[in-house]
Amino acid sequence: MPEIAIIGGGAGGMMAALTAAENPENRVRLFERQARVGRKLLSTGNGRCNLTNLNCSPAHYHSETPEFVGSALEAFPVSETLQWFRERGLVTVTEDSGRVYPLSNSANSVLDVLRLSIEQSENITVSTAAPVLEIKRTGTGFTVKTEQESFHADKVIVACGGMAGSKLGGVKDGYTLLQSLGHSRTSLHPALVQLTTETEYPKRLKGVRADARLTLSSSRKTLMRTEGEVQFTEKGVSGPAVFDLSRAASVSDEKLQLTLDFLREYNIKDVFSMLVNRRDRLPGLPAEELLTGVLHNRLGRTILHYVNLDTKKTMAQITDMELKDIARACKGFTLPVKGTEGFDSAQVTAGGVKCSEFDPNTMESKLVPGLYACGEVLDVDGDCGGFNLQWAWASGHLAGRLL
Ligand SMILES: Cc1cc2nc3c(=O)[nH]c(=O)nc-3n(C[C@H](O)[C@H](O)[C@H](O)COP(=O)(O)OP(=O)(O)OC[C@H]3O[C@@H](n4cnc5c(N)ncnc54)[C@H](O)[C@@H]3O)c2cc1C
Repeated sequence: MPEIAIIGGGAGGMMAALTAAENPENRVRLFERQARVGRKLLSTGNGRCNLTNLNCSPAHYHSETPEFVGSALEAFPVSETLQWFRERGLVTVTEDSGRVYPLSNSANSVLDVLRLSIEQSENITVSTAAPVLEIKRTGTGFTVKTEQESFHADKVIVACGGMAGSKLGGVKDGYTLLQSLGHSRTSLHPALVQLTTETEYPKRLKGVRADARLTLSSSRKTLMRTEGEVQFTEKGVSGPAVFDLSRAASVSDEKLQLTLDFLREYNIKDVFSMLVNRRDRLPGLPAEELLTGVLHNRLGRTILHYVNLDTKKTMAQITDMELKDIARACKGFTLPVKGTEGFDSAQVTAGGVKCSEFDPNTMESKLVPGLYACGEVLDVDGDCGGFNLQWAWASGHLAGRLL
């Protein structure tokens, strides 16, 4: 009976194990470094697990070789992924954005379904607290070494994930194991992560959420624009719209700035006339109330501070020139970017083991026959919204077929 070793009991590894075990000929051994399988999965989607997205397509993925993702996504598309989970008992709901969650709103449900399926399978054995330290080529097979044992495998699937979420088990092991077998990797960057910026204004605004259009730029060019919710933190900015441009910030080595437009539905002329109107209608109010009712109170006052308005004045004393500056600041509040919060807080690793060294139709190594890889360890990262787990399911499913 062929012995199949799967290294890593995360999303991709569990999917690969269950797929490989569908062939009753295979004996599957799943090695997991941590005390339990699927630890990171429990923290996904803020504990709700955004397991996939109905709008999944290769356009939502990034890689040095972006064409690599297509075959796996086609071989196990979202519809089949959802059916696969349904057949194993998971009930899901889909939000308007296409994001799919378990109906229970609990990531536990997704992990339970995987865990119970593994428990029920007669040909999967799980070894937890068993970090794989070495994979060696031996004749036509491999020796997989942990502290406790040396295991002979005919085929090996590396599903160790990436460096993101280091507190949840993100490690470099997958890269090291694959590099020891002759593979190479790209540089690694944290992505889907908070940006750190100059802290004067974020500190004042800590906890405030706002809807904005975001522009990330260097002195030479605009790198990316996004729209949506921004949350201010002690060290910078977070929230879905920030996550969307964090990859571009993370991989750039230029000095960057983030510009926030808090009134994206209005052009600058409209904002100016609105402010003139407010001043003329409410002349006796303190100047610090100018943006009350327009923006979150703390944000409004911070913008007045940002343009150095003397808030001891009354509204009537604010000049047209000052109103122009305030209108410009509402639509162009600029924060110098320092970097990102790093791998601890990141949801995914941008970069990884080079996809060009693997066959996209099988996930098998082009360098070492019988060696496969799936999930985040490869140089593939997806946008925020369920795309990274879909990549783990799809590539894990394809690798598990052991074609
Ligand atoms: C906080 C957070 C929230 C997220 N939310 C979402 C979301 O809602 N939707 C989404 O699509 N994506 C989300 N992601 C991303 C997603 O979780 C990952 O992209 C996905 O889990 C990658 O799957 P994987 O199987 O490749 O790696 P992982 O799920 O990380 O699994 C890898 C496993 O390998 C094990 N391992 C590592 N080295 C060894 C070794 N030497 N020996 C044995 N085992 C080893 C690890 O312990 C781990 O269990 C989130 C990530 C984080 C950190």
